[in-house]
Amino acid sequence: MTVRVLGVPYDAQSSFLRGPAQAPAAVRRVLHCGSANYETELGGDVHPDRWHDLGDLDIPDHAEQALTVIEQAARSASDGHRLLSIGGDHMVTWPLVRGVGTHWPTLTIVHFDAHPDLYDNLDGNRFSHACPFARIMEEGLVERLVQIGIRTLTGHQRDQAERFGVEVHEYRTWNRSLPDNLDGPVYVTIDVDALDPAFAPGVSHHEPGGMTTRELLSCLHELAARPVEVVAADLVEINPRRDVHDMTAMVGAKLVRELLGLMASAGGSDPVH
Ligand code: MN
Ligand code: MN
Repeated sequence: MTVRVLGVPYDAQSSFLRGPAQAPAAVRRVLHCGSANYETELGGDVHPDRWHDLGDLDIPDHAEQALTVIEQAARSASDGHRLLSIGGDHMVTWPLVRGVGTHWPTLTIVHFDAHPDLYDNLDGNRFSHACPFARIMEEGLVERLVQIGIRTLTGHQRDQAERFGVEVHEYRTWNRSLPDNLDGPVYVTIDVDALDPAFAPGVSHHEPGGMTTRELLSCLHELAARPVEVVAADLVEINPRRDVHDMTAMVGAKLVRELLGLMASAGGSDPVH
């Protein structure tokens, strides 16, 4: 199974700052700038001839139209292939999971983020990037949602997490490991603001007191050692307008390499058609 990479340059559901629509171009530029090689820490070869870059989607700002464009692209791109998407604000994960979920109806999402993104609505907007996991759980798109790095829970979002059975690992008490009982096909979504802003300043919402880059990489390596298949992943919320010397784009490029290695090395069981 080959891995396909899809740029999802959409940031119209950002509640605070625009900019993540520029992330696919920024991450690609840094990935291919010659600064680093194309091998993963675990020894995987992720040279560009080992995966297929589908380029960027053309997405209108209008929320319903954007949902349709992204969902259809994800459904087609993940048909018989692993899909790594580069967003975009976190709203894009909702249609991406809809699309991928047509082939993998029993997904577990492993979600790295400072924020649970479980608001029913933000200022009346149910499409906001603060809401995608409420939508995903309401639609029953996945079996499990495991959140790691969380440090901004509100009372409302605690209620939402309980209502949907979300497994929230707050960063302040997290045991620095993934849950023991992970199984099934896994969708990894990485909101780069899970990391401390010291490691990744190029995000819209700086939330101090976050994960180290190494902790996040260790989680990906732990997934590689588990009996799970990472069938799709996304990388969201990099905001190049706030980046410093491409530091965050470089974190993104590193995560892309490790995710490519993780998905290329996963087993080959067939999705449901
Ligand atoms: Mn998020
Ligand atoms: Mn976030």
